[in-house]
Order: sequence, then C-alpha cells, then structure tokens
Amino acid sequence: MSKIEALGLIGQTNLVHLKTLDPKPGVEIYAKLEFMNPTGSTKDRIIAYMVQKGIEEGKINKNTTLVEGSSGNTGASVAMIASSMGLKSIIFVPDKCSEEKIAIIKSYGAEVIVKPELTYGKFPALKAAESPDYYHVDQYNNIYNPEAHYMSLGKEIWDQMDGKIDAFVASASTGGTISGVARRLKENDSNVKVVLADPAGSVYKPYFEGKEDYLSYIKSFHVEGAGKTKICATMDFDLVDEAIEFNDENAIEMVQRLAREEGLMVGGSSGGNVWAALEVAKRMEGPAKIVTVLPDSGFKYLSKIFNKEWLKEKGFEHLAN
Ligand code: PMP
Repeated sequence: MSKIEALGLIGQTNLVHLKTLDPKPGVEIYAKLEFMNPTGSTKDRIIAYMVQKGIEEGKINKNTTLVEGSSGNTGASVAMIASSMGLKSIIFVPDKCSEEKIAIIKSYGAEVIVKPELTYGKFPALKAAESPDYYHVDQYNNIYNPEAHYMSLGKEIWDQMDGKIDAFVASASTGGTISGVARRLKENDSNVKVVLADPAGSVYKPYFEGKEDYLSYIKSFHVEGAGKTKICATMDFDLVDEAIEFNDENAIEMVQRLAREEGLMVGGSSGGNVWAALEVAKRMEGPAKIVTVLPDSGFKYLSKIFNKEWLKEKGFEHLAN
C-alpha cells in the first residue's frame, strides 16, 4: 500500500513572538502557527500519526475506508491523508460546522454526512460496525492522538523555545493537544505551568474545578473546535494546572486583533487561546515566556467570524467594523 505522501509537509510550523501583545516589558507571548499545516490545521499531525499506527498494527490496508466524526478540521485531515494513500473516507460533521470546512473535506473526495451537534459523535462507531473494511480513526479515544502531539508538537515547541517556557496555554476538544504537549513540556521542566483555555458553555473547566453539576454548564457557543459537552478519554486533567474561561466575544475580538495587528488570519479557538494567554501574561513578572497554539486558519471562517452580516446576526454588531 502507498505511503502517506503528504506526511513530509506536516509539522515543523513556525513559532512567532506576538510583539503587539506583550503586556509588560519582558513578558512575551509566543504562538505556534499550526494553520500552516497542509489542510490548514494542527489535526494533520494526529491523523498522520494515527493512520501510520493503524497500518503498523494491521488495522488499515488498501481496502480500508477511514471513518471519523469531526467538527471539520480532523475531517479535512482524514480526507487528505486518505486521498494521498488511495483510500476512501466518510466524515460525520456537526451542523454548526462552517460551510468552508465542509467544502474543504469534500474537495479531497470524502463523503460528508451532517448530523446534529449533540449527537453526531455516535455515528462514526455505528458506521464502522457495518463492515471490517471501515476503520474508525476515533480521535476522542485513540491514545495515539495525544501521543502524536507529545512526539511532534510538544517537541517542536520545546526545541524552538530553547527550553525556556514558563506557561503553555491551549483550549481542548479531544484534549490531544494540551495533554500531549503538556506531558512533553513537564517531562522536560516540571515548572512549566499548563493552562486550559475553555469556552464558556464547555464542561471542561467546571469538571476540572470539581463541580459535580458540570453538565449543567453546557450551553451553545460559536467558537468551533474548542470545548466539549462530555469528558474525553484523550484529555488528561492531571497535567492541567489552571483553567481560564473565554467567551465568543473575547475570542472574536482577539481574532480581529491578530489579523489587523499581527498579520495572522486564524480561527476562533486561536483567538480564545491568545486571549487566555494574555490573561496569564498580565499576571506574570518578566522575564517570562508564555506559549500558545493557533490551531487553524481564518480562511475556514470567511462566512462566519470574518463576515460582517454573520457578526451582526449573532449579536456582535460592535465587532462588525
Ligand atoms: N481548535 C480547533 C480549531 C480545533 O479544530 C481543535 C480540535 N477539534 C482544537 C482547537 C482542540 O484540539 P484538541 O482536539 O487537540 O483538544
């Protein structure tokens, strides 16, 4: 079976200092430009790794159809890697997924099935049970997801920062990013503080803080890809030191600042990550270095957070300028 041709293009993304955001002298915020991966998101890393492991373990062969549930980015990565290997793919996406993300997944030749936000997650496993030729990639349970970030993203961040990191800030959906990167950074330096940036409406922050009624915190929000309505096996709370909540407005405002002041066109979760990183930075005394990730490209949200009509319709008139 053919190897993953696109693999060589994945990772080794740039890490930049967000100069306009430094809250005080010597306190610096750095961002890993994960939107520079081939499909425009960090998810290429985990899918390449998980598919490679599936091949090595004999679970994926030339007759396999990859099946996955995704808020859009993972779906694009599965579709891209499947097509580069001559395989088929079927992607279930939630109905809040942007049109652009659905179009991107389809452009790689995948079949896309749209399901309701709260139930779409159960469909990939049901589909995979229909035939041994279907392989459920399963980013929410596959332990190779956080391991991929431990092996690549976490290592790159450590190397690019020359081992000088005071805090790492990231939002979580599967938790693969924060868990894998945190494990690598804390193994190298146990003093690195790990902060979860969580959208208001997600269960992760209340769960982390020990709230028994954490499920009652669920409410809908517009930022895509970050936050969750259930606790995932791939999320390791033991590696998290603190959780900070952000709302849609915080995230969208920061997305606009990043585009207009730093020249970085990114998605809503990047805005949430940087907003939370700035909150952490404001509390620190220099010298201090805070690192975060920009998980995906703003090009995936031209019909949403970069669209004035959408902003007005959703109650963000003051940001539609
Ligand atoms: N931001 C975006 C845009 C994403 O697509 C995702 C993954 N769904 C995340 C953040 C969170 O990453 P992880 O699943 O590794 O926790």
